[in-house]
Formats: sequence, structure tokens, C-alpha cells
Amino acid sequence: MKTAKDARQSQSIVEKDRENVWHHISQYNDKKQPVVVTEGKGAWITDYAGNKYLDGMSGLWCVNVGYGREELARAAYEQMQQMAYTSMTQSHVPGIELAEKLNELLDDDYMIFYSNSGSDANEVAFKIARQYHQQNGEPARHKFISRYRAYHGGSLGALSATGQALRKYKYEPLTSGFLHVSPPDNYRRPAGVSVKEYNLQRAQELEDKIVWEQAETVAGVIMEPLITGGGILIPDRVYVEKVQEICKKHGVLLIIDEVICGFGRTGKMFGHQHFDIKPDMVTMAKGLTSAYLPLSVTAVRKDIYKTFEDNGENSHFRHVNTFGGNPAACALALKNIEIMERENLVGRSAVLGERLQQELAELADHPFVGDVRGLGFLMGIEMVEDKNTKKPASPDRVNKIISDCKASGLIIGKNGDTVAGYNNILAICPPLSCTDEDLAFII
Ligand code: PLP
Repeated sequence: MKTAKDARQSQSIVEKDRENVWHHISQYNDKKQPVVVTEGKGAWITDYAGNKYLDGMSGLWCVNVGYGREELARAAYEQMQQMAYTSMTQSHVPGIELAEKLNELLDDDYMIFYSNSGSDANEVAFKIARQYHQQNGEPARHKFISRYRAYHGGSLGALSATGQALRKYKYEPLTSGFLHVSPPDNYRRPAGVSVKEYNLQRAQELEDKIVWEQAETVAGVIMEPLITGGGILIPDRVYVEKVQEICKKHGVLLIIDEVICGFGRTGKMFGHQHFDIKPDMVTMAKGLTSAYLPLSVTAVRKDIYKTFEDNGENSHFRHVNTFGGNPAACALALKNIEIMERENLVGRSAVLGERLQQELAELADHPFVGDVRGLGFLMGIEMVEDKNTKKPASPDRVNKIISDCKASGLIIGKNGDTVAGYNNILAICPPLSCTDEDLAFII
């Protein structure tokens, strides 16, 4: 008689996947043929059936130096042999060296707090901001403002900051005190309004929100340098710089989420370095280790940190996590940054991105392409049904392009905000280490 164990043993790996693994955010993967990835080299991944794909999304926007880097595996291996673990209630050499390196890259003076994921890094930023204001004589400051369409993570606080309704649907009520304003979406700005004027209007909307909420209750603003997952919405520089001015004017901390934009993605080491701003906090994850191991960072300006020192009982930051700042992950992150510098991957991101944008610009003549936009090696192609009305392309049309690309060996993404009907932006975010041949393949 066939036992359940026999039945399990005769299952293919794909069947085992269907039976046992709950995929992230992808209902359709459970029904269709799942891609079980077995190998990665450079910009390419191979699945169990032997199909090869150029990973035009770098996993989840994270494998910045590409797959199969032996040096990274070795850095982690050697650190694990030397000293596999100590918590960050103490310290260790790779953690210290990485913090020093990040300050060099940020070109400023921050204290580096380690966690495990982008969501964690943002949660930490929110807790630090609230405690800072409490200890800085402004205990009423507890609210955070972010933008609609932005994604800041899946845990309850980070999801509260997220501005995409479908991500929160059925999980509410979330954390209170999180508010949203509209982001600049230059393609959809009202007719007759210049980009600059429109961006200033969006910044004014933020200031109005702060004032109407009573500035004395607002702790921070969190934003990405450009909205990535919400549809590659690239602001005019006047917007970002104005936001910092408004935050300063009202005593509100500016938290810049570099989880996707950091580590070369936009053609600079950090996305905010395109603008003349100095954030109060910077959060990072993904490209920090090129996702070879989990690690994230909340970089906090030193004068904020000072209020946590010797400021009475329980004035220290009372937050701990077991894995944050894992020594092997820190050693790997250092090696990852070394590779980026040695191979000039940030410069390459700018050059490849420029080429990709020039080549894909001609798609703008296509009747269903409304807009082609990008910064560095990060591109969005906004699909529409009608160029004049800008009606977003139907899900069928967008999905067909994605599946046709996949059938041709190219993975691309789909982004926007489903509820608002703008889930019509194709995203391209390949490893920064793409070769010229890889780029030609994408094009
Ligand atoms: N912030 C941004 C901008 C992100 O895109 C993401 C994830 O995609 C996060 C935060 C959350 O990061 P994680 O998935 O590592 O928790």
C-alpha cells in the first residue's frame, strides 16, 4: 500500500512546492507553474526545468552586484568560521568597519543601527523619531507623513506608512498616527502646469498637512528619493529640496528610505545624493548585501543620537533584535561595497541607465506607451489604453507584456497602485553588473 511518505517521495519538486510552500504576495504563482530557481550567474537565473532568464528585476530590486559572486560567499564563510555571532548589545569588527564605511559613503556623521530587513529599518526609524522628540522636550510629536503610492514595508508600522491601499486591505486597523499626501506624478500633472510649479504644489500639500495636523504633533516625514514600487515616480529636484526646507521649518525629521534607491541603483551611491539635502535618518537594506544575506541599517544623525545618551532613566534606545548586524552579513556587505567600488558599478549604473533610456525612448511612439522614464539603472514604462486620455492600460494588456517578456527570457516587473487603477507601469531594474550583451538582450 502506498503511504503518504511514498506519495511525497514520488512528487516532483514543483508539486512539492505547490503542496508545501506559501509564496509571497502571489496568488497566481500557486495556480500556474511556479519558477523554482536553482542557479544564478551574473544577471541570469536558471530554473529547475533548465530555462534561463535575464533577471530584469534583480530579484526584488536587490541583487545589485549580480548572482554567483564567490567573493561574497567567501567573506561570509570566513567570518562564520572566525566568529559566527555576537549580538549588537556588544560589538564586532565587521560591524564597526561597515558603519565607518557607510559614513564615508553618506559623506556625513551618522550612528548606524543594524536590523534585518527594510521594514525593520523603517520601524526603527519611527521608534527613534518618537523617542527623540519625547527626550527633546516635544513629547506630542508622534505622527508620520508619507506619500500615497509609496511602499515602506510589510510590518504593521511600515505598512501604516505605506500608501497603497490594497497592501493594507483586510489588515486594518494598523498603527495610528500615519498620514499620507500625494506624490509628484509628473506624467499625470494637470495640463498647462509646469513640472516645477506642479512639484512645488505637491510640496505645499505636504506643508499644509503638517500645519493642519498641528506641526507640534508631527514627528517625521518618510519618503524614498523617488517612488519605486509605486510606479517609478521621479520628482523634480525642487520638490525634494523644498520638502527638506519644510521639515526643517516645522521641526519634523526627514527620513529617507533608500531600501531600493541605495547602493548605486539610481546612478549615485544613494538616491538622495541627486539632491541638495541632508536627511536626518537614512534607511537601507536590499543592495547593502545585494541580498546575499539579510541586513539592514537605520543611519541616524549624531545630534539625534545625543539625546539618547545620559538623558535620565530609560533614555537609551530600548530596541534589540537577535539577528540585526550579524557579523557574516556585515563582512559580506563590506565585500559587496568593495566590489561596487572596484568595478565602478555606480558609474556603470548611470551609463547603462542612460543607454537603456535612450534606446527605450523610441517606445514612446507606441500607441500603448504613455511615458518612458528612469533614473540610473531603474526604469518605468507607463502603459495606457489611450495616449490622450492617459487611461491606464488594462491588467490583461500589462500582464501579457510581462508574460511575453518571460517567454522570451526576460523578467520584468509590474508596479503602481492597484486600487487607484495605476498598476500599469512596467519596471526594469537589472543587476548593475549587466554586461553590454545583457543590456542588448533587454533592449
Ligand atoms: N522600503 C522600500 C522602498 C521597499 O521597496 C521595501 C521592500 O520592497 C521595503 C522598504 C521593505 O523592505 P523588506 O522587504 O526588506 O522588509
